[in-house]
Amino acid sequence: MAACIFCKIIKGEIPSFKLFESEKVFAFLDIQPLSQGHALVIPKFHGEKLVDIPDEQLAECLPVAKKIAKATGAENYNILQNNGRLAHQLVDHVHFHVIPKPNQQEGLG
Ligand code: 5GP
Ligand code: ZN
Repeated sequence: MAACIFCKIIKGEIPSFKLFESEKVFAFLDIQPLSQGHALVIPKFHGEKLVDIPDEQLAECLPVAKKIAKATGAENYNILQNNGRLAHQLVDHVHFHVIPKPNQQEGLG
């Protein structure tokens, strides 16, 4: 979809820090991370909400989110996927957040 910022990121028209790319999936760092390593995993198929994405286009998203979560080394993390404004969705292209929580030892001085 021409006006979609995540479609532009997939096409390289908007720069991003790419973490992973395959035929159906693209993953990159969030521009306003909630924690170090906060990543977004998106299907290349444009759809606004989860129900708009065919299963075969979605299938690889969670396995990629899992790989990224593992690669961060975080023992605690959230996988989030927002649908609709009231559910805090700001970008209308389906995306899974991978939000690592710093390990507890860090920050305990
Ligand atoms: P939402 O609230 O829609 O679930 O989350 C959208 C996410 O996309 C936000 O965390 C925001 O920081 C991220 N984001 C918005 N625009 C850009 C962009 O141009 N580049 C990157 N890397 N992330 C973006
Ligand atoms: Zn899009």
